[in-house]
Amino acid sequence: MIRFDNSYAKLPERMFARTLPARAPAPRLIAVNDGLAARLGIDAGWLEGPGGVDMIAGRALPEGADPLAMAYAGHQFGNFVPQLGDGRAVLLGEIVAPDGARFDLQLKGAGRTVFSRGGDGLAALGPVLREFLVSEFMHAAGVPTTRTLGAVLTGAEVMREAPLQGAVLARVAASHIRVGTFEYFAVRRDLEAIEALLEQVRARHFPSAGSPLEVLDAAIAAQAETIAHWMALGFIHGVMNTDNMALSGETIDYGPCAFMDGFAPGKVFSSIDHAGRYAYDRQPQIAVWNLAQFASCLIPLMGEENQAIRAATDAVHGFPARFEAARAARFARKLGLPCDQAAGRADTLLDLMARHEADFTATFSALTADEDTGLEEDDAFREWRRDWEAQGPDRAVMAQANPLRIPRNHRIEEVIAAGYAGDLGPFRALLGAVSAPFEARAEWDEYADPPLPRQIVRRTFCGT
Ligand code: AMP
Ligand code: MG
Repeated sequence: MIRFDNSYAKLPERMFARTLPARAPAPRLIAVNDGLAARLGIDAGWLEGPGGVDMIAGRALPEGADPLAMAYAGHQFGNFVPQLGDGRAVLLGEIVAPDGARFDLQLKGAGRTVFSRGGDGLAALGPVLREFLVSEFMHAAGVPTTRTLGAVLTGAEVMREAPLQGAVLARVAASHIRVGTFEYFAVRRDLEAIEALLEQVRARHFPSAGSPLEVLDAAIAAQAETIAHWMALGFIHGVMNTDNMALSGETIDYGPCAFMDGFAPGKVFSSIDHAGRYAYDRQPQIAVWNLAQFASCLIPLMGEENQAIRAATDAVHGFPARFEAARAARFARKLGLPCDQAAGRADTLLDLMARHEADFTATFSALTADEDTGLEEDDAFREWRRDWEAQGPDRAVMAQANPLRIPRNHRIEEVIAAGYAGDLGPFRALLGAVSAPFEARAEWDEYADPPLPRQIVRRTFCGT
């Protein structure tokens, strides 16, 4: 049914712990992802039937699966934690798609593992719906991201502040190797493991890279692209700890993430990010910080130490230029202009938007559609707009760069509340609307609307 391989399970035993997923007592399907199933060569009909549901629910292992929990460490808000690991996720194995591409399939919320520490290893319905929506939107918008193959209710309760319905999300990733995975072995001075990991990263993500330095460079370039794309969508990851940065460059771990409504460069949503470490406009700096941790892990593999340190440092210092170029290209597309014409104009626009806390998504889609942005009263804005129009912006390009809809925070909260009340209809409708974010359709119009003042979400929670 599914072609499984397990290259990670063939690595040295100390790099993971073999773990069976917990069996959900009474699973019920939330949704499956037909498009992703097709990409992976999985029959969507099977996936949404009892066989697929039982697989996501941990009740039936697919043939060839060799489930495990990965070991990793991580800097959480700057503090090093030498052991984290998959505490509520089990990697079933790697699916080899019909075209030969390899993808991890992981069950998130599949029970305790040796890495669970005090946690229960479970996930509640709310965070599962949030991750499903946001990851599939990100994919549809073209951002490298882990994806969601499907999700089920477990039929069991999860204790949080109150008892909540439990759920499992089947996450698909190019790999789940994180900066924190390297840190786990670096702090243990386990060079053999670091070499094995690096070879996985090279083979799976950057096959044209040769030396460790080339892999480092490629990982830095991938991260710069991804974060520039976040910035162009008003996305705030919220918890950019090194254990939540995948070396593939895919966005991973949709916890307290949020999209900005009103534009405020220093915006923070996460209830636990008191210092604003992971604010919108700090994300590129944090990426550098995280990549510096990754680079440090590779130094022992990079030859003579002083030279290695110099080369690794130079590579990390290459991030800002790569990021700025990627960001400039993204915002140029958002304005429908060539890069050289867009540069200053984008920043002026963002300043004006910040002054009015203009809705990030709606402002760009109004410009795309040649409509009122709500900023027209501002003389400086009118002048900016006249000058921009005079450049002859390409609206077809803009329409591919400026989504009509994002998974807005108030909408996500609405569908989660409905889901807990037993109605997954609103979730499915929103999933459809954000999975085709550039496509205009009357039935989806309402999802484009910014929140009313009483609907504005100001705080998000890990909620796991
Ligand atoms: P996160 O903040 O989601 O990136 O998770 C950080 C660490 O906490 C990871 O090692 C997770 O596996 C672990 N963790 C988070 N929630 C739970 C849970 N409910 N049970 C066990 N471990 C958890
Ligand atoms: Mg995490």
